[in-house]
Amino acid sequence: MNKFIVADVANCIGCHACEVACVTAHHQDAWPQQRRDFLPHIHVVFHRNASSATTCHHCNDAPCVLSCPTQALYFADDSVQFKKSACIGCKNCVIACPFGAIEMVASGEDEPQLAHKCDLCSGHPSGQQACVASCPTQALRLMDESGLRQLRRQRQIRTAQGQPVHHEQRGARRAALLDKAPRVGAKKIAADERKLNFAEIYHRLSSCDADYESERCLYCAQKAWCNWTCPLHNHIPDFIRLVKQGKIIEAAELCHQSSSLPEICGRVCPQDRLCEGACTLKDKGGSVTIGNLERYITDTALEMGWRPQVGDVTPRKERVAIIGAGPAGLGCADILARAGVQVDVFDRHPEIGGLLTFGIPSFKLEKEVMRMRREIFSEMGIRFHLNQEIGRDVAFSDLLEGYDAVFLGVGTYGLMAAGLEGEDSPGVVQALPFLIANTREVMGLEESEEYPLIDIKGKRVVVLGGGDTAMDCLRTSVRRGAASVTCAYRRDELSMPGSKKEVVNAREEGVEFQFNVQPKYIQRNRKGQISAIGMIRTEMGEPGPDGRRRPREIAGSGFELPADVLVLAFGFQAHEMPWLRGHGVRLDRWGQIVTGGKGRGTTQTSNDKIFAGGDAVHGADLVVTAMVAGRRAADEMLTLFKQKEGS
Ligand SMILES: Cc1cc2nc3c(=O)[nH]c(=O)nc-3n(C[C@H](O)[C@H](O)[C@H](O)COP(=O)(O)OP(=O)(O)OC[C@H]3O[C@@H](n4cnc5c(N)ncnc54)[C@H](O)[C@@H]3O)c2cc1C
Ligand code: SF4
Ligand code: SF4
Repeated sequence: MNKFIVADVANCIGCHACEVACVTAHHQDAWPQQRRDFLPHIHVVFHRNASSATTCHHCNDAPCVLSCPTQALYFADDSVQFKKSACIGCKNCVIACPFGAIEMVASGEDEPQLAHKCDLCSGHPSGQQACVASCPTQALRLMDESGLRQLRRQRQIRTAQGQPVHHEQRGARRAALLDKAPRVGAKKIAADERKLNFAEIYHRLSSCDADYESERCLYCAQKAWCNWTCPLHNHIPDFIRLVKQGKIIEAAELCHQSSSLPEICGRVCPQDRLCEGACTLKDKGGSVTIGNLERYITDTALEMGWRPQVGDVTPRKERVAIIGAGPAGLGCADILARAGVQVDVFDRHPEIGGLLTFGIPSFKLEKEVMRMRREIFSEMGIRFHLNQEIGRDVAFSDLLEGYDAVFLGVGTYGLMAAGLEGEDSPGVVQALPFLIANTREVMGLEESEEYPLIDIKGKRVVVLGGGDTAMDCLRTSVRRGAASVTCAYRRDELSMPGSKKEVVNAREEGVEFQFNVQPKYIQRNRKGQISAIGMIRTEMGEPGPDGRRRPREIAGSGFELPADVLVLAFGFQAHEMPWLRGHGVRLDRWGQIVTGGKGRGTTQTSNDKIFAGGDAVHGADLVVTAMVAGRRAADEMLTLFKQKEGS
């Protein structure tokens, strides 16, 4: 008889730990570098309120083996094994398998699609099946000849003795694990109070609530689904366990192993789309408040006087220049400084943080947090050169000459126009300059010509867009005393790209939402000032190439939405960087920096000495993804430095 994995549906909690264990076991017990390489041989399937894991049945007379023309699939060690080098990608096995247990996958962009199936971890040094070992409820087990004999015997005895099947014991491990109190999360300041100022709206968790939330975590596995969906692969179950044990300093140290700014990600990550969206408890009392706990750990440890330690590093001879003190640049600087590299960070702004400081408003992230981080990074030996714009105050060629490598973490600052007639009218403003001007005022910085502060007190403000930037503009307008604040979005509420939490917060603060409306023109008064926006209603049509349903205009549904101020919050595109020309750095057709390719680091540009990451490479995205890119660039630079040392 062939061996195979069986799943006990009654005890499956749907935590995906088996999928994660399968993937990491086939990646030398590490996380795959790219999302597309997450290819488990076992799949958790959900049906109504139940879940179960399915994988290859290792059939005795396996049709896949019989169908394979090259013997790439063969019987060995009481299972169906696969030899990749013999696979010609004919897909016969995929068609032959009655359980859909074989997939065709490519191991790289230019690689051919080959069969991919469970090998019962035959090559893993532990000799154990990773999925079985990782299951927190022992719902999975390897069925072999002896297991089957045991099962047969148990059933024969039970039948002979006339014992009934104990239904109440079925799923007991699942029930015990999922019996959790509901989520509490961080407390918010009441909307009426918070909309009067720019202070952060969420309180830090109290130690009592942190204990309560950490108690709720199921500790699905050391490498759990929540770790995988966190772009940094933070050690979430482990740091939560340390909170439960009251070991805050140890938890802070662990958080800093995988993240350069944990208290910031804990505040600004869209957790509902990332770590918390993947939590096993999401639909069972609510996800563990991972973000709040992450913030709690670092805020508390810093308050206790703890500081991230660089440790006893031997200084290296290399020097690296980093352009941009946003999350990408800071992630890169952090890793390099810890490895003993001398790091100089240049930024045109008077404070570090990039959009963390000058984009994200202080009611989401207090500016004091970033100032504290500057102190910490400076103590680690990172040198910041603020108010220094490359291409204006410092020549890029000087950096190339004076440093062993340069990292570009310059973000995306190209503004998107609405394409409406009258868009240049007084009263029509772009989101980012609007937010920057506001933040500069909150920080007590001088008003700058580039970012003039506009007075919106008592005015009717309309914001076009449905993402996080739009939410920030709306909530800023509320705090600036606008008479009314309206969000006009061309799709329906479900299609909004921003974090759901921010939409709830905006609503609570008095923002009005108009969905399925598209701007057509800008109406001006006699002074040329905007007075209304001509709108047309839309309905949701067929999905476009990006999979999102497209809005369709409804004929004859036009109307005018009165407005004194219109904020355009459509997102960002790459900005011009004339100073980069002539240095062999390839840009794509949208002006984003191109990195990677055959024989190059994934963050290395077409100039060997120049690396890049964050929004400037992957387009406007998230703080956490920018930081991942910066940290990876640092790792790739270090590999290069070590290779040069050895050659
Ligand atoms: C309004 C707004 C709200 C957002 N809210 C969230 C949120 O809640 N959660 C989230 O995860 N993400 C959010 N984002 C996205 C997030 O802020 C970005 O994805 C992230 O900051 C990108 O990091 P980065 O390091 O690539 O670039 P940036 O943060 O843009 O940093 C780039 C830095 O490079 C500097 N620079 C550029 N050119 C030069 C030059 N020539 N010389 C010197 N310095 C230069 C810039 O001054 C800037 O400081 C938001 C973005 C905006 C605009
Ligand atoms: S970095 Fe973001 S996604 Fe990762 S654990 Fe923290 S809050 Fe979640
Ligand atoms: S946070 Fe959620 S998904 Fe992660 S280990 Fe805990 S219960 Fe499991």
